[in-house]
Amino acid sequence: MRFIPAEIEKALKEIQKLPGYGERGAQRLLYGLLKLPPKERLSIVKALAEATKRLNPCKECGIYTDKEVCDICTSPERNKKLLTVVEESSDAYAIERLGRYRGVYHILGGRISPLEGISAEDLNIDKLLERIEKYKTDEVILATNPNTEGEATASYLAHLLKRKFPNLKITRIGFGAAFGTYLELLDEFSLSTAFENRKEF
Ligand SMILES: [Zn+2]
Repeated sequence: MRFIPAEIEKALKEIQKLPGYGERGAQRLLYGLLKLPPKERLSIVKALAEATKRLNPCKECGIYTDKEVCDICTSPERNKKLLTVVEESSDAYAIERLGRYRGVYHILGGRISPLEGISAEDLNIDKLLERIEKYKTDEVILATNPNTEGEATASYLAHLLKRKFPNLKITRIGFGAAFGTYLELLDEFSLSTAFENRKEF
């Protein structure tokens, strides 16, 4: 074992703390990095260090931000009564890239997934209820991923919200034929069409 550098053992052990990374994944990441020229490796590691040091979930919506409350939540131009619920920050960024949405977001931090042992209690739902109450939200758009788990999560939330807020408008974005994928993988046209075709629950 003394021929294996201690740095390798340590790095592999650390990477495996990431969700979804087993030994093979950790090896792929580490050796992939080591194959690059030293300058490139360092710029990747530096970007990661900066992002992980500065970014934390927004206290309101949960999107990753370098501030306590993100620019979307504090913007006077954003309509706080229109709230789009997504699984991860990356989904909100995909919607932001369209440049059309004027409401705010709520990041669940995942989806209900019995296979991965993730239940509703593990998601950022209490804060969602609190925000709907606080801002007297008019419409909640459920924009979880167009796949089985995303659909199950949307349906769970729709029933919960209907029970708690009988007058709230609850919609689900209409993915049409694009089922079994991830929101962030949709092209801009499909994503904006999905938003326009949203249907009431
Ligand atoms: Zn925010």
